Amino acid sequence: MESKQAMPSPETILKSTFGYDTFRPLQREVIGNVLARHDSLAIMPTGGGKSLCYQIPALLFDGLTVVVSPLIALMKDQVEQLRAAGVPALFLNSTLSPEAYSENMASVRRGQAKLLYVAPESLLSQRVLSLLAEVQVDCLTIDEAHCISEWGHDFRPEYRQLADARRRWPEAVCLALTATATPRVRADISSSLSLQGSNEFVASFNRENLFIEVAPKRDGAAQLTRFLERFKEQSGIIYCFSRRQVDELSAYLAQRGHVALPYHAGLDSETRSRNQEAFIRDDVQIMVATIAFGMGINKPNVRFVVHYDLPKSIEGYYQEIGRAGRDGLPAHCLLLYSYGDAAKLKYFINQKEGDERKAAVQQLDAIVRYAEDRRSCRRQPLLAYFGEQFLHENCGTCDNCTAEAPVLEDITIPAQKFLSCVFRVGERFGAAHVADVLLGSKNEKILRFGHEQLSTYGIGKELSQKQWLHLARQLVQMGYLQQDEEHRTLSLTETAREALKSRAKFFGQLPSTSSGTISARSTGSRQMLEHDQALFALLRSKRKELADADGVPPYVIFSDRTLVEMAAYYPQSRESLLGISGVGQVKLEKFGDAFLGVIKPYCQERNLPETARATAPAKAARKVEAGTGMRTTLIGEAYNDGTSIESLMEQHQVKAATILNHLTKYALAGNQLRNVEELQAFVSASPEDRQAALAAFEELGAEYLKPAFDRLDGRVSYDDLKILRLSCLAR
Ligand code: ADP
Ligand code: ZN
Repeated sequence: MESKQAMPSPETILKSTFGYDTFRPLQREVIGNVLARHDSLAIMPTGGGKSLCYQIPALLFDGLTVVVSPLIALMKDQVEQLRAAGVPALFLNSTLSPEAYSENMASVRRGQAKLLYVAPESLLSQRVLSLLAEVQVDCLTIDEAHCISEWGHDFRPEYRQLADARRRWPEAVCLALTATATPRVRADISSSLSLQGSNEFVASFNRENLFIEVAPKRDGAAQLTRFLERFKEQSGIIYCFSRRQVDELSAYLAQRGHVALPYHAGLDSETRSRNQEAFIRDDVQIMVATIAFGMGINKPNVRFVVHYDLPKSIEGYYQEIGRAGRDGLPAHCLLLYSYGDAAKLKYFINQKEGDERKAAVQQLDAIVRYAEDRRSCRRQPLLAYFGEQFLHENCGTCDNCTAEAPVLEDITIPAQKFLSCVFRVGERFGAAHVADVLLGSKNEKILRFGHEQLSTYGIGKELSQKQWLHLARQLVQMGYLQQDEEHRTLSLTETAREALKSRAKFFGQLPSTSSGTISARSTGSRQMLEHDQALFALLRSKRKELADADGVPPYVIFSDRTLVEMAAYYPQSRESLLGISGVGQVKLEKFGDAFLGVIKPYCQERNLPETARATAPAKAARKVEAGTGMRTTLIGEAYNDGTSIESLMEQHQVKAATILNHLTKYALAGNQLRNVEELQAFVSASPEDRQAALAAFEELGAEYLKPAFDRLDGRVSYDDLKILRLSCLAR
């Protein structure tokens, strides 16, 4: 009789069980596909919301959904979260006592579970196989599916046998999920599991809520302390390279009154799980850890991830920062970079051999290039690494996109010196040697090759060795120098030869000019919903109290996002509480009164009324604001209102170039600028060069300046190009 009733829609379950209003990208598509019983492979970043893709179908299927996961530590956590939302879920793995194991088996046999989480080895045990032969399995979900591929970074042999398991339930639809998969791994997953048809869903790996920042590391400990001041009472992870560093840094932070604990493979397993548990339960805010930490962590309210040392690869880095902000609220990712750290890593890499060494060098080069890039949006190289093109020029949430335009200096003289020295040494030496020649060093290598005879010997004493090396890396980055992967020797590119011949100017930065300060900008309050901090604190301690009483992590009760909404909209009835994101029917029953018991008296005392909550926040409108700084908007609007460039310079006490930079950003963010022609007065290039520049923009696009700059052999300065570009943007 029951089956005759209209089946609830995925949307209804999303709201009534999980309390959410809208699906995240591709969730709905995957769910629809699974419900239609088409095998599917879903690739979504960490925090993308993979779990709902099988949890919602599980509630709609008559039979059981089996979820295979290698992360035994997470099963308990997921089952607790589901049960708090009223979903009957169980798990079977080696952490259960024999009694509890049998009890869970019996419950499954009685049909008392919609979802069953198992480790791969448990699934393939005779006991579980015969249990599952007795019940109807409607869906087989393989979580962390990349583990099945030998090409993946986390191959687990026991995953290979899942192909067998797949064959045992030919009627069940199969859903494979992963956050990391190169095309090769993807193909491997599909063929190993003999997924029928090719229903692949690949979500964007862009995590909009992460603010991404790289800062030069000067005095790491002091920089970190300043950074942490902005995250009082918030959870975060600090990654270090070595165990010793972890111990030292966590002790240092603890001394300064931070609640921090260490985590690394050198600690005994009991200490490790105690520390991890304390972090998950919000008893401890900061985890100082090696990369051993994080795999088994589901904590959604990690507000920052700091890389105190350079990560070994972009892939690892992206996975680590991905642990921040899973709840979708803003989170900050900071990498403290020093070239010394890169050199340290290189030392370790050099102890490897052959292909392994080569691969490691390439990965390190990529992350160094990323860290040293002060111009392009951080998201571009990160997403490109995952084969995704990021097309927006300004993401609004990375250091480079929100920085005041970097002051590019004329570095023509040092660049020419360096390039010609590379040429003089026969394009057969690395950067350090070239710098030594310029500095007039008398070391053995120089004397052996007779390089003290060169015309460029000793002509570069105005810069330090460090500055020369930095310049060299910039020249590589700008495409003037080529570096041999194997031997690290430098040679000139065609661009460099032409630039030298035509005496083109070089613009860049010398390291002394970039400061070691970490930006005070953060995603923080700007994107976070405005809310009542005092009420939020009260709600948080209520949540902690309930969580401790139930012996679960606080986020099992409600996420931070849910509490933020409560502290913003002051819901004072059960009905309005149900309107808050994350409050479903069952959680309302279980916890509603406890939270209303906090909100109501708080509001009555202060005479605060409920405020309406729009279900779909006006995201687009906010985005433009996030994409351009406050100052940029002010300047852009004042200019459009008729304020002259001169008065703007005076009001803001800045140079004309700075005002023009703001106007460019304003225009790039999609705003109209009035009277662009008037700005052309600030261009110093000749009329012919102006024409040529406009033609170059026309042909090459106006998104970037460098192509046009190169096309004109550097005859038109970057400052001029910026202004000329405005008239292209205005069209
Ligand atoms: P993943 O497994 O892809 O890392 P999860 O499934 O753990 O991601 O989801 C991350 C967080 O986002 C969880 O706290 C989850 O409850 C929340 N979430 C998932 N889907 C939605 C949605 N549609 N709306 C709001 N929150 C969501
Ligand atoms: Zn950006």
